[in-house]
Amino acid sequence: QAKRLGRNTYQFFTPDLNEKVRHHLALRNELQRAIEEGQFELHYQPQVHGPSARIIGFEALLRWKHPERGYVSPADFIGVAENTGQIVPISDWVLATACRDSLRLNELGLGQYVMSVNVSPLQFQRNCFLPDLLEVLTNTGLDPSLLELELTENILMGNTETVIETLREIRSHGIGIAIDDFGTGFSSLSYLKYLPITKIKIDRSFIQEVISDHRDAAITHGITSIANQLQLQVVAEGVETQAQYAYLQKHLCESFQGYLFARPMPLKELADFLGEHHQAQALDRERREGGR
Ligand code: C2E
Ligand code: MG
Ligand code: MG
Ligand code: MG
Repeated sequence: QAKRLGRNTYQFFTPDLNEKVRHHLALRNELQRAIEEGQFELHYQPQVHGPSARIIGFEALLRWKHPERGYVSPADFIGVAENTGQIVPISDWVLATACRDSLRLNELGLGQYVMSVNVSPLQFQRNCFLPDLLEVLTNTGLDPSLLELELTENILMGNTETVIETLREIRSHGIGIAIDDFGTGFSSLSYLKYLPITKIKIDRSFIQEVISDHRDAAITHGITSIANQLQLQVVAEGVETQAQYAYLQKHLCESFQGYLFARPMPLKELADFLGEHHQAQALDRERREGGR
């Protein structure tokens, strides 16, 4: 049929395009429903300081509990939500929920930790981003220094003047700024010199084969070295094996996030996890003091 219509028509491509548009529209409708019916959840993944074996914070990771399909990964819907603008109400919910849950852990006597929240480009570009953020902090009562925003390099490459101004203001309130997926964007290193960031997260793609691929090792080593010299915190993402962990520690990376330590988990499970963590630390202290 496409042939009969001649080669200069679009007909040849429409089935595929239609399929994409249909999928996009369906997803948009389902997302709308998810927003209205509150089908989202946050799971939290600990970040660990190796030498002291202490938990330093958590990353809030969005989960969509679809009524028929079960948990849907953010990788499968964040892009569409970003295109439709639905990321805005979703992000508002994420921020408020993460702050509330962080306070909840504190109220349960489980400690104070830094809560990291992923920020989408669209969200960051909005004029009301910072005022809204400050309002959430005021409303929840969370100490701003216990909040950290995770931004990707592409967010920082935009309108530089405005970006710097916004970041400075964020920092002036004591909120931390982490560069997520560091090393995967096409940005220059010079922004490390003039942007007021506090943490670099080395992308999982460098960590995966850090032991077997000398190029990944070289890049990882370079990133930790730059971070240390610039006095930025550095976290290795996606650490899955004991061997990766040992290797990274030897190469001056002190903080980690990955399945080796803990998977992202719902708040309830996190509370249990923290309870056990505290017990283990107390036992450890006792043992050390007893041995003296
Ligand atoms: P990200 O911010 O780089 O988050 C880290 C991802 O790595 C998470 O995937 C986490 O579950 C996964 N991960 C952690 N440790 C390991 C490991 O040891 N091995 C492996 N294979 N994976 C590990 P997740 O939760 O599927 O999130 C994917 C991406 O979706 C995130 O990447 C982030 O870019 C985005 N995202 C998640 N939540 C939000 C959100 O609330 N807002 C926005 N704007 N984006 C979000
Ligand atoms: Mg992140
Ligand atoms: Mg990341
Ligand atoms: Mg990522």
